[in-house]
Amino acid sequence: MDFHLTEDQKMIRDAAREFAREVLAPRAAEIDRDGRFPMEEFREAGRRGFAGFLVPEEHGGSAVGNVGMALAMFEINRACASTGVTLSVHNSLVSAPLLLNGTEEQKAKWLPLLASGEVLGAYSLSEAVSGSDAAALRCSAVRDGDHFVVDGTKLWVTSGSHAGLFIVFVRTNPSVSNAKGITALLVEKGTPGFSVGKKEEKMGIRGSSTTELVFENCRVPAANVLGKVDDGFRIAMHTLDGGRIGIASQAVGIAEACLEASVKYAKERRQFGKPIASFQAIQWKIAEMGARIEAARLLVLRAAWLKDLGEPHSFEAAVAKLEASRTANFCGREAVQVHGGAGYLVDFPVERHFRDARITEIYEGTTEIQKLVIARHLLR
Ligand SMILES: Cc1cc2nc3c(=O)[nH]c(=O)nc-3n(C[C@H](O)[C@H](O)[C@H](O)COP(=O)(O)OP(=O)(O)OC[C@H]3O[C@@H](n4cnc5c(N)ncnc54)[C@H](O)[C@@H]3O)c2cc1C
Repeated sequence: MDFHLTEDQKMIRDAAREFAREVLAPRAAEIDRDGRFPMEEFREAGRRGFAGFLVPEEHGGSAVGNVGMALAMFEINRACASTGVTLSVHNSLVSAPLLLNGTEEQKAKWLPLLASGEVLGAYSLSEAVSGSDAAALRCSAVRDGDHFVVDGTKLWVTSGSHAGLFIVFVRTNPSVSNAKGITALLVEKGTPGFSVGKKEEKMGIRGSSTTELVFENCRVPAANVLGKVDDGFRIAMHTLDGGRIGIASQAVGIAEACLEASVKYAKERRQFGKPIASFQAIQWKIAEMGARIEAARLLVLRAAWLKDLGEPHSFEAAVAKLEASRTANFCGREAVQVHGGAGYLVDFPVERHFRDARITEIYEGTTEIQKLVIARHLLR
């Protein structure tokens, strides 16, 4: 076992740290306050190689692997979780399944555009009737010659407002069990009959857009099927195993931001004639945050490492997401507490981190669903 990072991994971590410090940190509060989609920041991420972490160099990617991506995502999310989730979905939920399941034509067309940041990707599985029970989705696609005709409404689509390419999961066979009749389709922005609906107002990650997608008699070429017809649910679930490593990395980044802000504040703020950092009650909060972050980091890196080796990682990704997201929420709460009244004000970043942390226990499988996945493995 070797915990040392390779030179390439150090390079991507340092490059992401620089991007976070120069580009994201100065703008994160404004992105949150105005609910501004970080498109400019996404494009810059593309120029710096962060839009193609998992894409091979021959398709224009930086090919740093899952460990490299996790290291970079820690840094990016430490500064701005809205940009973090945009990049996580784009890399893990769009480029990764396209690389694994796409035809040569699909890969040649889309991967260079995704990796350069020219096109932003979105992943659309959820619907009003199907969140945790994703296989219950209803949005339908009926074969008509060389096309599928798609009708229905999808919900909760991260980056829906700005994406150019959507992986949309639709029901192609209503006569088999729920999970067996779903297909993944690549849908381009601008396809007639496809529109972006309502944009949600959110508690946190306010720069990220979360939208409805509406399909009305929308004709999608059969050549845009990703993988095989009726095999979409397997693709959706396998993709989420990787996505959870991305969200767990986001959670670690948010938790680290909470710790960093708390250490700084605890050393500066004086009460009873001394810095509050000298009180054991505050030291224990800092220690607990630090210890839990270390554990979460290692779990995330282990899951990423297994994925890089091509080994099963569903259990490890669920464990990493469960622990990292709980750690982010723990650290968000403690960081506000360390700041006292100041922590409740928008003037200090921990208020934003506290709100941003909340979503990490919900999307890409709630905490309860992670436990379900973990228990299924343990009780096998
Ligand atoms: C900001 C945001 C961004 C999102 N981005 C995307 C995206 O890009 N693409 C996409 O497809 N989806 C996206 N989602 C959807 C997200 O993945 C779902 O919200 C999530 O999976 C939970 O589904 P739900 O909201 O329907 O909750 P429900 O499934 O209705 O769950 C409600 C509660 O019941 C619990 N529960 C449900 N089933 C069980 C069970 N079997 N055992 C125990 N407890 C259970 C849940 O854990 C939760 O606590 C996003 C959501 C949000 C809020």
